[in-house]
Amino acid sequence: MLGMAQNGCFLCIPIVAHSVEEMVSQMQQAHTQGADCVELRIDHLKSFNPQVDLHTLVKSSILPIIVTYRPKWEGGEYEGNEENRLNALRLAVELGADYVDVELQAAPDFLSSISNKKPENSKIIVSNHNYKFTPSLEDLSVLVARIQSTGADIVKIATTATDITDVARIFQVLAHCQVPILALVMTEKGLISRLLCPKFGGYLTFGTLGAGKESAPGQPTLKDLLDTYKIRSLGRDTKVFGLIGNPVGHSKGPILHNQALRETGVDGIYVPFLVDNIAEFLKVYSSPDFAGFSVTIPFKEAALKCCDEVDPLAQSVGAVNTIVRRKSDGKLIGYNTDCDGSISAIEDAIKDKYATKDWTQISPLTGKLFVVVGAGGAGKALAFGAKQKGARVVISNRNFERAKALASQVGGEAIPLDKLDTFHPETGMILANTTSIGMHPNTDQTPISKDSLMSYSVVFDAVYTPKWTRLLQDAESVGASVVSGLEMFIRQAMGQFELFTGCKAPEKLMREIVMNIT
Ligand code: NAP
Repeated sequence: MLGMAQNGCFLCIPIVAHSVEEMVSQMQQAHTQGADCVELRIDHLKSFNPQVDLHTLVKSSILPIIVTYRPKWEGGEYEGNEENRLNALRLAVELGADYVDVELQAAPDFLSSISNKKPENSKIIVSNHNYKFTPSLEDLSVLVARIQSTGADIVKIATTATDITDVARIFQVLAHCQVPILALVMTEKGLISRLLCPKFGGYLTFGTLGAGKESAPGQPTLKDLLDTYKIRSLGRDTKVFGLIGNPVGHSKGPILHNQALRETGVDGIYVPFLVDNIAEFLKVYSSPDFAGFSVTIPFKEAALKCCDEVDPLAQSVGAVNTIVRRKSDGKLIGYNTDCDGSISAIEDAIKDKYATKDWTQISPLTGKLFVVVGAGGAGKALAFGAKQKGARVVISNRNFERAKALASQVGGEAIPLDKLDTFHPETGMILANTTSIGMHPNTDQTPISKDSLMSYSVVFDAVYTPKWTRLLQDAESVGASVVSGLEMFIRQAMGQFELFTGCKAPEKLMREIVMNIT
């Protein structure tokens, strides 16, 4: 049987191997990876002789085991005779398997048939799986009560998320259940049920041996649970931060922010929130536990409307990439750290270039001609940021109407993108590319010819895949100072971290992480 988990939540690796030998070897791997227990999915075995194989498996277990023999009618692989299946589970109990999982539908008969034969240390998990949706809170409460009434030692419910807000009901069930309960929500939209399980009092959460070894949709790897999310250090008071977006699976934000939280000793976790409707999401996750959010595509504009208060710069940009829940009154405050992240990086490049000048009284952007290529989200952040620092802003964009609209908002000039190469009103200008031109895989592309770059003293590229875009290489070769999109990425993340935690961001660490993961 399992001992005490640090935070009351055990980490279990599901084993879906096809042979007993493979299962034994994977149990060893699970032990090495740091799991607390394994779930042996007997129904995945290609051949299974209960009398022989269960002995082998129970005897070889170096970790506590859950024996599960899931039938097709509950989403498993077993299609054979029901009595044989239940006999095998009964044998597992008699052999002293630490846990045996039996489905709610089969549980009453099964439990009464083993009542005298169950060793004291064996526990029965009674489970119910819903592969279509997550029922209402009321229905979930009825389900938990039904499972409890079978005499289950541990209640297990697994539902399916059609929206991330479904998981909130599972958190409520976890928080109010009086018996040990394992409640998880399948699919990527349910991922936070697996990551935040210890915070809300779940008995156990699953992490796989590796990608492709899932026993249910949406399971993360144990390595991610341990290394990225540091799930063992989560407690009831841990604050939840995360990235709202769609898609979010590719984001490196969790790696960056979780390490930064640990470095600064903040009791927090940063998770991906795969959201469909940001307003609905923020309404449902409105408790102080959910303390701050990064916002990415496609919600930066919608986020602004969801905030109770918005920082003036974010208001003028018309986009919010950071939301903080104010401790004093729970109100949501919106910011745009893309703006400061990019503008401060460009300012620092100019300060470095003209280091002898005293910059204490004035922004190095004041009076400069600042050409923004692009008029999307990043373009707006750069244009309003530069304007705020006293630059003269010019917008160049493929869609000229958008260029004119943004230019008029910032009180600047608009030029068509195909006129950028011949736009040389003065020297010493600043160029900021905020389009995706030059982004991987189109790394040979650039928004402007090399010769035209002679008129610019500083060139910034929002694109950061690759790190050294063709634009930056051309600019450097004609003597301009260059600022990479990575610098903006690091600084906007540092800005978010400081808004979330009130602590100074661990810059050295965050830089190292970003350099390693990009
Ligand atoms: P967005 O709102 O979709 O805007 C895209 C902009 O790029 C528009 O101005 C669009 O012009 C232009 N564009 C796209 N493809 C083009 C092409 N083939 N030729 C000419 N113009 C093209 O996107 P966004 O959020 O502003 O992001 C833009 C870029 O900035 C992306 O590469 C993104 O990765 C990068 N970015 C970097 C950071 C960072 O931290 N470094 C942060 C945010 C964004 P039209 O108006 O004509 O469509």
